[in-house]
Order: sequence, then structure tokens, then C-alpha cells
Amino acid sequence: MKKVGANMDYDVIVIGGGPSGLMAAIAAGEKGAKVLLIDKGDKLGRKLAISGGGRCNVTNRLPVQEIIKHLPGNGKFLYSAFSIFSNEDIIKFFEKLGIALKEEDHGRMFPVSNKSQSVVDALLTQLEKLHVKVYKNSPVKNVIYENGHVSGVLLKDGQPISTSAVIIAVGGKSVPHTGSTGDGYAWAEKAGHTITELFPTEVPVTSNEPFIRHKSLQGLALRDINVSVLSPKGKAIITHRMDMLFTHFGLSGPAVLRCSQFVVKAMKKWKLSEVMMSLDALPDQTEEQVFQEIVKLVKSEPKKSIKNTLKGFIPERYLLFLLENNGIEPTEQGGTISNEKVRSFAKSCKQFIINVNGTLPLEKAFVTGGGVSVKEIEPQTMASKLMNGLFFCGEILDIHGYTGGYNITSALITGRLAGTNAAIAAKKNRA
Ligand SMILES: Cc1cc2nc3c(=O)[nH]c(=O)nc-3n(C[C@H](O)[C@H](O)[C@H](O)COP(=O)(O)OP(=O)(O)OC[C@H]3O[C@@H](n4cnc5c(N)ncnc54)[C@H](O)[C@@H]3O)c2cc1C
Repeated sequence: MKKVGANMDYDVIVIGGGPSGLMAAIAAGEKGAKVLLIDKGDKLGRKLAISGGGRCNVTNRLPVQEIIKHLPGNGKFLYSAFSIFSNEDIIKFFEKLGIALKEEDHGRMFPVSNKSQSVVDALLTQLEKLHVKVYKNSPVKNVIYENGHVSGVLLKDGQPISTSAVIIAVGGKSVPHTGSTGDGYAWAEKAGHTITELFPTEVPVTSNEPFIRHKSLQGLALRDINVSVLSPKGKAIITHRMDMLFTHFGLSGPAVLRCSQFVVKAMKKWKLSEVMMSLDALPDQTEEQVFQEIVKLVKSEPKKSIKNTLKGFIPERYLLFLLENNGIEPTEQGGTISNEKVRSFAKSCKQFIINVNGTLPLEKAFVTGGGVSVKEIEPQTMASKLMNGLFFCGEILDIHGYTGGYNITSALITGRLAGTNAAIAAKKNRA
């Protein structure tokens, strides 16, 4: 390897062509650095392209405070980053590249074209304009450090490439067919970094409840309900009001994905093999109101079957299931059902407890929790505090959020800072 700063092959090498690496390479290129972007795949931005249901959820327009709240994994670390390059800056950035964006529910931003490839193509065109060299199909084997400084990278085919700044942007370990196979953690550890425990987040949860095993509710979606994860004492640790879905192995859908990391954390914290989740199908009413309403409906037509009296009260399949679960025959006349049973049915509508025993594995998760400890990263530059010339951005960091553009926002913002500051550091080295 050449001496750091002297006749390097590149000023900055970015490893990984996901949203964080693409943004980092563009930012470094804009600063006039000689940049090489290396990816092991034949396509850049593969995970970005499948985000937001394949329409590319590039960012989110909620206020910064709200975005941070939607990044339960160390979102607060990003406060300084947001003050330098915010979600509004991301929107302006894409508009400058000719990608008009539109806002959808919960502040989610998508390209007007609804085509994720248009976003990826705009980023690639910008790389070209800035003369960023791109190596595809080129897995990096290692990052090389000499005397406390980055000195280059080694490709898997044995080719060494020298540089004075390396940005590790290789993502986490989820959905490995997109290229994110967790290669970067070992390079970070070699530089002295701590990798906090990795775990799946934004992932469906599994359950061994008989009604799940028997697929009684498989395919049923409950809309706009409250889903909670409970502590062993039955207190809600987290509640999300969104849609959810019963599957053949457990629960899925937006509310469940958001709750999933709390299931993982609760199992770990209390050393549990099962955690309770609770479904509130009628979140705008109290249990007493639900009970009184049923009593009133039944009184007005006591001879009618209970399933017909309660038609439309909650989705039909769920209604039949909860009635039977409370020992009520759906065809029974409402007037013959005991108050005790009605009360217990009302309780189930408000708080149906499901024991869950884990999640699908990390590979199936939308996002990887854990990663390079943010305590060892400069929050304004994304520089390593332990190795000169080393920068991190994106999902490899111990930052994770809910789906909805929050992870991509984090990737783009940290990528922007890493790229800009790696270029500045490289220039200093050259001088
Ligand atoms: C199906 C799906 C939907 C999602 N939807 C959303 C959403 O709606 N909102 C949201 O905020 N987030 C969403 N996410 C998460 C989001 O896409 C990621 O957080 C984001 O892509 C992370 O960006 P990144 O640049 O850090 O890493 P990645 O996008 O994972 O990119 C890493 C890149 O590094 C390359 N690489 C890896 N190892 C090497 C190596 N050894 N050498 C060279 N290159 C290497 C890979 O090929 C890859 O191109 C979704 C994820 C999935 C899987």
C-alpha cells in the first residue's frame, strides 16, 4: 500500500451501493474528491428499489422530532445530523435531480412516477455526472488499516486499492439476496469498533397458539386497531394503532412489524420463551361502553341470533372467533346469553391476548437492529472515533426505525455526512 495521502488511487472509497453509499459517493463527488464506489452486486440500490412496496419510500415529511420518535433504535443520535442535512434537504436533493416527490399517509414520500427505478437511475446519473467511478460485481474482502489510519481496501479477487478515506455503507444482515450479508461488521471490529447485538426488527412475529396452528384466522386483516406488547405484569410496553394481519405462523402487518422489536427486547429482558401481545379491535371505546352497547343491541332484539345482532361490530370472522372463544354459540339468541359471557366477550374485543414466541429470523426482517455502536461515531461527520479516515453510514450503524421511510432517511442523511466529511478528510491528507 502507498503512504496515506500520497498518490492514492482514490481520495474516497465507498463500499456499498445502497441509499447510504450512493448518497455518500455523490456528496464526496460534489466536494471534488476522486471517488470509487464498490458494490458486490450487479445492480445498485436493490433494497432501496424494493422499499415502500416497490415504489421507493425515499423519505418522510414529518417534523424532525417525529422522525426521531419513529427511529426507536438510537434516533436521538441523529439530531446533529438532521441539523446539517434534514429530510426536507433530501426532498430538495431529489427534486434537483428531477425526481418530483409526493406525500402519502403518515408523511411517507414517494416518487410521483411511483417507479423506484426512476429514483435509482437519477442517483446513478448523478454519480456519472460527478465522475464517480463505479465497480459492480466486486465484493470487498477487507478494509486495510495502517498505523491507525485507513490505507485501502482489498477486493475478493485479490486486487488492493489505495485510498485515504473509506466509507463502510454495506447495510445490515436482512434480506441477504439484496447484497446485505453483514460483511462490514468484521471490518468495523478490526478497527476496534463495538458491534451491539444484532436482532431482527420490522419482522412478523410467530405464535404457537392453537388457533394460529389451526390457521383459524389465517389471512384475516384487522384495520386500524391497537396492537400492544405486554410486560409479564400485563402492562403495555408499546402500542401501535394501525392494520394487522393473521398469518399461518403468527401475526404480521404494519402494527405488528412496529411492535416486533419490543417482542424481541421483552423476551431478552425478562428471559421469556413467550410474550403476551394484546389486540384492541375497538380502540375508541372503553370496555364498559362496548359492554353497554352490546347489552342495548341485544335488548332491542333479544330473539335475534347474536352473530346477526353484532353484524358489523367487528369483522365477521373475528366476531365468530371471539364469540366461540367465549363459549357463545354464534347462532344463539342474544337474550339467552348470560351477562357474564357478554362481559367476557366485550373484554376480548378490547383485549384479546395472544402469546407469541418470537419472530421470523433476521434474514426475513425488513431491518437489522443493532450494529456499529454510535458511541464510537462522531455525530456530525459519521467519522470513526477509533480509526482515522474511516466513516460509517446507513443500516450498518446501530440505528433502526420503523418502515415508512425512516430507515432510508437515516441512510441518506448519514450517507450525506459521511461523504462530505470523508472528502474533506481526504483533501487534508493530500495537502
Ligand atoms: C422489503 C423491504 C422494504 C423496506 N421498506 C422500507 C421502507 O418502506 N422504509 C424504510 O425506511 N426502510 C425500508 N426498508 C429498509 C431500507 O431499505 C434499508 O434500511 C436501507 O436500504 C439501508 O440502506 P444501506 O445503504 O445502509 O444498505 P443497503 O441498502 O442494504 O445496501 C448495502 C449495499 O452494500 C453492498 N455490499 C454488501 N456487502 C458488500 C461487500 N462485501 N462488498 C461490496 N459491496 C457490498 C450490497 O450489495 C448493497 O448494495 C425496507 C427493507 C426491505 C428489505
